[in-house]
Amino acid sequence: MIKYDLHAHSTASDGLLTPTELVSRAKEQHVDVLALTDHDTVAGIEEAKTAALTHNICLVPGVEISSQWQKTGIHVIGLDINTQSVELLSQLQDLQTLRTTRAQEIGRRLAKEGIPDAYQGALRYTKAENLTRTHFARFLVDQGKASSISGVFKHYLAQGKPGYVKTEWPALEKVVQLIKHAGGIAIIAHPARYKLTANKTRQLLQDFKNHGGVGIEVAHGDCNRDTTAANIKLAEKFELQASVGSDFHDPDTPWLELGRLPRLPAGLPTVWDNGFQRGTSKLQIT
Ligand code: AMP
Ligand code: MN
Ligand code: MN
Ligand code: MN
Repeated sequence: MIKYDLHAHSTASDGLLTPTELVSRAKEQHVDVLALTDHDTVAGIEEAKTAALTHNICLVPGVEISSQWQKTGIHVIGLDINTQSVELLSQLQDLQTLRTTRAQEIGRRLAKEGIPDAYQGALRYTKAENLTRTHFARFLVDQGKASSISGVFKHYLAQGKPGYVKTEWPALEKVVQLIKHAGGIAIIAHPARYKLTANKTRQLLQDFKNHGGVGIEVAHGDCNRDTTAANIKLAEKFELQASVGSDFHDPDTPWLELGRLPRLPAGLPTVWDNGFQRGTSKLQIT
């Protein structure tokens, strides 16, 4: 059985391992096919590819792009993308600019809450200047503002909390098109995490499918069996191919380990059925 993990982060966004360290850990966890999918950047891909060649695992070039659907921020995974695509690189550059502007505003909001210099503080936690809320959360934990990352989100960074900044991400349709133009396949990440009603989730998936979306992440690190079963039903209903990914960020959260994903029911169409053209090695599918 080939072990897939098609959603993971490195220091190019909010992961704690460098692309090289991530690939080595994937190897230790017996992952055969790994996709690096950093938030709104492909900056880690070249390094990850080099490491994958050393470890003889298949590295699939990927990205997790922030998009907007109605009032909800939706993450779209792009897999098997051409990371040299001029259009892709230009849009990702715009997203980096948007992230910087947003991070400065998060800093101003937190200052009003009595936490000064959080923008500069968060910057110390990134190697790539690709600021996410996770970087703020790590800074705030170290400042003693909460005892855990999730505690910081709960009190400061989640929607409706003082440090939350509403961001106009590019429309879902535009992001799906962008991934398609870069030769990749678009997958809705962690559908259960958006806290949408069942009706809204169905609308989202129908729109996504109409825009040219291909896949749905049916299993991810923090979802249980019931959620996976419900996601599989959605995959079947909307004829979306199933994908799996840990959404690994951090070696200190072993319950979200690389490759720790359930086996999917036989016969379920998956995003890897046709192989990946741009993976670092071709596998014998058994
Ligand atoms: P951003 O894209 O800057 O809004 O940051 C989103 C990232 O923050 C996600 O990819 C997660 O890594 C992290 N995140 C979001 N919500 C939580 C939470 N409740 N607990 C821990 N991490 C979270
Ligand atoms: Mn993240
Ligand atoms: Mn995500
Ligand atoms: Mn992710």
